[in-house]
Order: sequence, then structure tokens, then C-alpha cells
Amino acid sequence: MRVLVTGGAGFLGSHLCERLLKDGHEVICLDNFFSGKRANIMHLLGNRNFEFIRHDVVEPILLEVDRIFSLACPASPVHYQYNPVKTIKTSVMGTINMLGLAKRVRARILLTSTSEVYGDPEEHPQTESYWGNVNPIGVRSCYDEGKRVAECLMMDYHRQNNVDTRIVRIFNTYGPRMAINDGRVVSNFCVAALRGEDLEIYGNGNSTRSFAYVDDIIEALVRMMNQDEHIGPVNIGNPDEFTIAELASLAIELAGSSSKVVIKNPRADDPVRRKPNIELAKKVLGGWQPQIALLPGLQKTIAHFREVLDLPKK
Ligand code: NAD
Ligand code: UDP
Repeated sequence: MRVLVTGGAGFLGSHLCERLLKDGHEVICLDNFFSGKRANIMHLLGNRNFEFIRHDVVEPILLEVDRIFSLACPASPVHYQYNPVKTIKTSVMGTINMLGLAKRVRARILLTSTSEVYGDPEEHPQTESYWGNVNPIGVRSCYDEGKRVAECLMMDYHRQNNVDTRIVRIFNTYGPRMAINDGRVVSNFCVAALRGEDLEIYGNGNSTRSFAYVDDIIEALVRMMNQDEHIGPVNIGNPDEFTIAELASLAIELAGSSSKVVIKNPRADDPVRRKPNIELAKKVLGGWQPQIALLPGLQKTIAHFREVLDLPKK
């Protein structure tokens, strides 16, 4: 099949392009390099089944494709808050453009939505039926509300135009190829620990997240696209929940570092707890469940950052 991956030069997108090529597909990777980079796809450029298009999804584009993975959108709070108006335009206009394309060429389309649609959740763990607790006017709204509108568009194009849509809500994912300046907690902590710098915890360190290794998420994305039934949004993530303080200690230990943890001001509207209920994913994705626990996943990620930072191997 000919598969379009928007945001294909980013962290998840580049892993997905690689996997789709391995599966024998023709891959068109589209990206504007806002938070992604050429280095992520450099190794794919020589593959005759791989094509790169530099394009901004806010502008329409016409391509002949069978499948669309719609990932284009900055995912780190640091990046999506840098130009919030652009972030929401990317989610809203980008999703409209991709849905318009899907409708025109009759392609199946998958949106990578996010656990952020649950906001600061009052239900724990979060199931797909929970409607969320999102501040509509806060500093995270450009991302949270952008994705909520994107989900709404996916459902309306399905109901109104019969477009074959899929939505996954991805929970915090980490792994090799996150940018060292990505700004999300796993890369920040691994890089700081390796450099011997302070690890900064925003708030008291008791907030939780549930961290999934990239390979587990890519497997779920592929399965979700391949399953033929139209179902509503599906959570994908690793339900093992950790406090941010626990993550900091683990990063310091695994990096063999003498870095210290310092406490900084909490971030506005920062969700206090987050953990996916993945029962629906297990059921509809052929028994899928995460295979890689935090410890081995962090070891691989730290090994990757060692290489990027040109530090000796352990
Ligand atoms: P990322 O920032 O590494 O990748 C996003 C990619 O989209 C980048 O390559 C960027 O250049 C590109 N992009 C941004 N705006 C664009 C535009 N207007 N036009 C074209 N390309 C554009 O982030 P990621 O972690 O790889 O996230 C990929 C997708 O998965 C995003 O949609 C994100 O919301 C979603 N997601 C990720 C996570 C996670 O933990 N990684 C969690 C939930 C949802
Ligand atoms: N965080 C932190 N130090 C950092 C980066 C993040 O303490 O250097 C905290 C952040 O406040 C949040 C959690 O780690 O409570 C996860 O943040 P991240 O930006 O990775 O993702 P998100 O908030 O979108 O889940």
C-alpha cells in the first residue's frame, strides 16, 4: 500500500516510517521540520519505497494514497507552547486537510490523539468513556483543545461523509530519537543525568505519568490501522505508573550519574495523575499489550543519548 505519514520526521513518525517500510509499504513522509529533523529520516532517504515531502499540513495537499497516519503536531509542551496559535492551526486545519484528502481518495486515516484530551483527570485510570477535565483557556489548551477538535472532526467526517477513521489516544511515550532539546521529562532527565547537570522537577515530584516505550506504541498504531472495524478512540500506553521523583532517581541510577534533583515551580495546568486503562486496546488490537517495562526501556534510551552526546559507552 501507499502510506502517508504526516509528522514523519518526528520522534514517533520516524519510527513509524521505518516500520511501514519493513512491512513492505511505499511510504510518503511529510513534515515541515518544526520539531522533527532530517537526521531522523536520513537513513531512509536511500530506500526506493521512501519519499520525503517538505510541507505544512495547514496548507492543503493532493496525493494518491491508501492510508494516512496523521501525526503532524508538536507534542512537547515546550514546543507546542512556543507558538500556540500555530499549534491549534496545525491540529484543526491540518486535520481538516488530511480528512479532505482521505475523503477524496478514499483512504483510511488514523489520528494520533493524546491522553491530554482527559486534561487533569478526575477519573483514574482513564478510560475512553471519560470526557475529561480540560481548561479551555489555559496555556495547554492549544494542544489539548486542538486534539479534542481534531477528534471531533474525525468523528464528524466519519458520520457525515463515511470516511474510514481511526483515533488513538497515546499516553506519554519515550525512546531513542527523542530530540535532546525535546523538553519532555524523559529526555530532559536522561540528558541532564548523562551531562551531570541538575534534574529539574516542576512541582513536588509526586505527580505521576505512565511511560510507554516507543516500539510498543508503533506496534499498536500499525494494528489499529490494520483492524477493519470502525471503532471510537482507543487508549494506547503502558499502565505502569511512576511518580516524577521515581523517574528522576531511576534516570540518575541508570546513567551512573551524580546529578542532583532540584525542585522548581509547578507548570500551569499540569495534570497531577495519568494512567491509561488499556482493556479496549487489548481487546480490539489482537491481544496487544506493552512488552517493554520502564527499566529496560530507559536503559535503551540512555544508551541512545550517550551516543548522541558523544559520551563513552557503558
Ligand atoms: P514530535 O514533535 O517529535 O513530532 C511531530 C512532528 O510533526 C515533527 O516532525 C514536526 O516537525 C511535525 N509537524 C509539526 N507541525 C507540523 C505542520 N504544521 N506541518 C507538518 N509537520 C508538522 O512529536 P511525537 O512525540 O513524535 O508526536 C507525534 C504525534 O503523536 C503528535 O501528533 C502527538 O500529538 C502525538 N502524541 C505523542 C505522544 C508522545 O508521548 N510522544 C503522546 C500523545 C500523542
Ligand atoms: N517535568 C519535570 N521536569 C522536566 C520536564 C517535565 O518535572 O524537566 C514534569 C512535568 O511538570 C509533568 C511531567 O514531568 O508533570 C511530564 O511532563 P512532560 O512534559 O514530559 O509531558 P506531559 O506534561 O505532556 O505529560
